[in-house]
Amino acid sequence: MIYLVEDETAIRELILYTLNGAGLQATGFGDGKGFWQALRERDEKEHKTEPALVILDLMLPGEDGLAILKRLRSSKKFSSIPVILLTAKGTEYDKVLGLNSGADDYLVKPVGMMELVARTKALLRRTAQDKGEKEDKGAEHFSLGALRVDIPAHKVTVDGAEISLTLKEFDLLVFLLRHEDIVFSRERLLNQVWGFSYAGETRTVDTHIRTLRGKLLSAGSLVKTVRGIGYKIGETT
Ligand code: CA
Repeated sequence: MIYLVEDETAIRELILYTLNGAGLQATGFGDGKGFWQALRERDEKEHKTEPALVILDLMLPGEDGLAILKRLRSSKKFSSIPVILLTAKGTEYDKVLGLNSGADDYLVKPVGMMELVARTKALLRRTAQDKGEKEDKGAEHFSLGALRVDIPAHKVTVDGAEISLTLKEFDLLVFLLRHEDIVFSRERLLNQVWGFSYAGETRTVDTHIRTLRGKLLSAGSLVKTVRGIGYKIGETT
């Protein structure tokens, strides 16, 4: 089930009609209040902790989209729900702010319905893939350039030479490798790798990235900083 939060009735109806028409089950809410209530009820009655995806308008009456997003990301139960932000604002600043707050994708209004469906399906696929990878033993080995990682053996080598990593450095490296070339904000990494989200503790991520980089130096600069957004791993810049 896809949850859509959009206060403009005409747009909400159009998106719901389009998603349902594309075979994606979706339900809509006019504000954060209705959304949170439905989320809680679903959790209590059906013991399902999350909808498959949330499409969130930024400008809403009451709690705005960014506040809802931050609340989702810092909650224990709902932190991993994929979120697409929907907004009339299209400035670089808003984009960065949205991605920094943990949005997975971003669509600027007026949104083409075909693009919306395509992006929604792509994000659902990516999420399903992530879940699959966690269970799939075949994805327990990674190689990138001269870097090799054997997850079950907890072994990292560069050009055959073993590199010693701390547990968290290892977890961080594996998480980035599972999502090669995808940029993650510090908050998101904190949430996904450390399993909690304290806005003030993002320096922990920077510290670990720094030591990880130092240790992997002989493999080249694989861990990259994307200015104003966060980090990613990959061979391309
Ligand atoms: Ca709106």
